[in-house]
Amino acid sequence: MSTDSDAPIVSNFLRTIIDNDLKSGRYAQRLWAGRPGPASVRQQGTLDPARIRTRFPPEPNGYLHIGHAKSICLNFGLARDYQGACHLRFDDTNPEKEEDEYVQAIIEMVHWLGFDWTYGTETNCYYASDYFEVMYQFAEALITAGYAYVDEQSAEEMRQMRGTLTQAGSNSPWRDRPADESLGLLRAMRAGEHPDGSMALRARIDMASPNINMRDPVLYRIRHATHHRTGDDWCIYPMYSWAHPVEDALEGITHSICTLEFEDQRPYYDWILARLMELGQLAPPLPRQYEFARLNLSYVVTSKRKLRQLVDEGHVQGWDDPRLPTLAGLRRRGYTPASIRLFCDRLGVSKADSRIDYSILEQALRDDLDPSAPRAVAVLDPLRLVITNFPDDQIEPCVAPVNPHEPDGAQRNFPFTRELWIEREDFQEEPQRKYFRLYPGNLVRLKYGYIVRCTGCTKDEQGNIIEVQAEYLPDTKSGTPGANAVKVKGTITWISTAHALAAEIRLYDRLFSVAHPDAGDQDFLAAINPHSCHTVQGWLEPGTQASPGATWQFERLGYFVADRIDSRVDRPIINRAITLRDSWA
Ligand code: ATP
Ligand code: MG
Repeated sequence: MSTDSDAPIVSNFLRTIIDNDLKSGRYAQRLWAGRPGPASVRQQGTLDPARIRTRFPPEPNGYLHIGHAKSICLNFGLARDYQGACHLRFDDTNPEKEEDEYVQAIIEMVHWLGFDWTYGTETNCYYASDYFEVMYQFAEALITAGYAYVDEQSAEEMRQMRGTLTQAGSNSPWRDRPADESLGLLRAMRAGEHPDGSMALRARIDMASPNINMRDPVLYRIRHATHHRTGDDWCIYPMYSWAHPVEDALEGITHSICTLEFEDQRPYYDWILARLMELGQLAPPLPRQYEFARLNLSYVVTSKRKLRQLVDEGHVQGWDDPRLPTLAGLRRRGYTPASIRLFCDRLGVSKADSRIDYSILEQALRDDLDPSAPRAVAVLDPLRLVITNFPDDQIEPCVAPVNPHEPDGAQRNFPFTRELWIEREDFQEEPQRKYFRLYPGNLVRLKYGYIVRCTGCTKDEQGNIIEVQAEYLPDTKSGTPGANAVKVKGTITWISTAHALAAEIRLYDRLFSVAHPDAGDQDFLAAINPHSCHTVQGWLEPGTQASPGATWQFERLGYFVADRIDSRVDRPIINRAITLRDSWA
């Protein structure tokens, strides 16, 4: 693991569990053969040098989002802190929805977040589909031992027989068929002799269990579908709830951490592993499942289905649209890996569901960028300011720190001239109360330049202000002796019009205008903020190198990033990542 912890380690219930497991030596005798496998492989191994093994198991059916980041930081972070290994495992058991494009995008984003799945000489990146044959052998073993049977009921019949929360289910008429018959049918299923939905392999547990998940859950269903890795090798595919514990056990996972909705699945997880161990297929100690509360963030949706809908229906420009909470979108918006790790650290881990306000994510970005981001001046809504007593051909060099936290560090240079761009809101012809910026008669400092006295403005025929005039006070240049002799209440930013760099600036806002766009049965599309992207033509301080991904604090405005897809140094396209202060509430 390559990332150092960003924050002091705060304990949580998972750390307590791991501490206790390490103290009691629960996993100390665990063998590891350097690769995943059943008991027969594991027994060829030596003591596992990794003190714990965790895993991050995405299904490659979409792009990772901020919720996944929480799981990534948690699983990879625990492995790092306990000298363990964290596996990246693609849970690709659903052929219809999965694609290699998503596999590649997931790999890229886990790396981008700063995590890595190598441990010593091991490269722990695995695919559930690589275990299809072992899983199948396990299924045959379960049938032989009387723990599974082929059911020929339709899906609808199974549903009706399952019972309800208050009513026990009833046994399938096929439940007690001889093991040999089930074995023959499973082999025929695998050989492609039966159509989709005509039969399924089920665990034989207890149709009267108070936990519905224990009422003979399905292990294998028939799906004549092409898989992105195994092609047409298989036409039966394992159900997630059966595949997942097996994948964990094959990989020697010690702590299998998942979100709370899987709590009711835990007895089944344990049942599967216990049966396979009893049958000699799996070597102890077995993995254990622990649940934590998923991240719910306000003002976004994180379900992959809903994200896909936003992309497919053109509500956003793609999976990496800077308004989306996908990691690709957050990166393009200007979020740094460190800001996302900081956010996840601040959230902590708990077992209680809650909703996190979006502003906490935004604050993590400010806190990460403030000490490091270079400063520059930009003007987003330009208005011309003419310094009427400054010679037309004079160029006065000015300097400013690249980062005010390092006043003795690198400096930036830019010229002061007779014509400047200022922000339109920095002038008011008739000032409101407590307005300290430019208005006729008022003195204002042009930051890093001179103090000027506003003398008036010019309007077009419609009465719009098209120019402001001022006179400069020659002995007041910042950094020269006596510069502060004249006191002013307002300081504004500016750029020489002759030297300014033109830029397209994309001012993003939240994609949804309500805090919980998908609460209840609400149509989340109806909550889309129609003003979530507003593009302006602005000006940048000369010398600003807008290479893709470059990040700045534009003074007084916020944090901005050169769009990593569209920006070019000679044609800057800049995204606003976040304003300097939270302006939402
Ligand atoms: P979705 O419901 O959006 O499809 P998912 O949970 O099915 O998401 P997976 O690819 O299966 O997506 O998730 C991989 C891992 O990320 C799982 O271990 C899951 O628990 C975790 N994860 C997904 N969403 C969140 C979230 N909002 N908060 C914390 N962990 C999450
Ligand atoms: Mg899932």
